[in-house]
Amino acid sequence: MTNKMDNNKTLLRCSGLTKKFGGLTAVDNVSFELKKDEILGLIGPNGSGKTTLVNMISGNIKPTGGDIVFKGRQLRGLKPYRIGRLGIARTYQIVKPFPGMTVLENVAVGAMNGKSEKNRSVKDAFTAAEEIIEFTGLIKYKNYMADSLSIASRKRLEMAKVVAMDPDIIFFDEVMAGLNHNEIDKATEMIQKIREKGISILIIEHVMRAIRLISDRIFVLHHGSKISQGPPDDVLNDKKVISAYLGKRYKQLVK
Ligand code: ADP
Ligand code: MG
Repeated sequence: MTNKMDNNKTLLRCSGLTKKFGGLTAVDNVSFELKKDEILGLIGPNGSGKTTLVNMISGNIKPTGGDIVFKGRQLRGLKPYRIGRLGIARTYQIVKPFPGMTVLENVAVGAMNGKSEKNRSVKDAFTAAEEIIEFTGLIKYKNYMADSLSIASRKRLEMAKVVAMDPDIIFFDEVMAGLNHNEIDKATEMIQKIREKGISILIIEHVMRAIRLISDRIFVLHHGSKISQGPPDDVLNDKKVISAYLGKRYKQLVK
């Protein structure tokens, strides 16, 4: 697979990120980097802290400790809308289209809340949304109410909304959950096309077939701590990862 790394330039650097919920340390002193044009996979068992990590970076929850530096700027403490405008977008595990709005309107709201100053006007946001809807293959649903879509199309709409924000980085949180084999292949292709637009990606996913194919590197959380990191095949063969997470999945992979 081609990997158009731009001199390995680091876009996002998290150091010592920690989140405690009362007595539970959901994310424990995690450090990682996301490079320009990279697809970084994040895997780990349910409850291992993956969503909490993304929630801290996107400003949805406050870290207990650690630093989040994006293009040399500290993000910790900024509100989610500021972080969105700086160029970081994320999807939600539970998809939440705006009810009572069409697919096109949902995507236009994404465009208005993103990085491009140009798309803050309603007219420009709708023009941008049309393009993204075409790009994401949602054109025939353009005027459908968002809450009438199938799960696969809703997931696709989540992807369209974040692409419309014209970000430097997207976090995808389980956008393949609930999809069938064919839909997973389509979502995988879409993520590769999004990277080709020059967007760097952190993807949380349980579908090993997809994550192994598209990730340049993978890192693994277990009980909030990073237990492994590296090229997909190294990580997926790491004994610590197999015993903490992969188990039976590993047997399917090596077949
Ligand atoms: P993952 O996304 O890897 O499945 P999460 O980040 O959602 O895991 O959760 C990590 C841990 O933090 C879990 O034990 C979860 O119950 C706990 N947790 C997540 N959010 C909260 C919250 N807002 N309040 C209390 N505990 C939370
Ligand atoms: Mg999660």
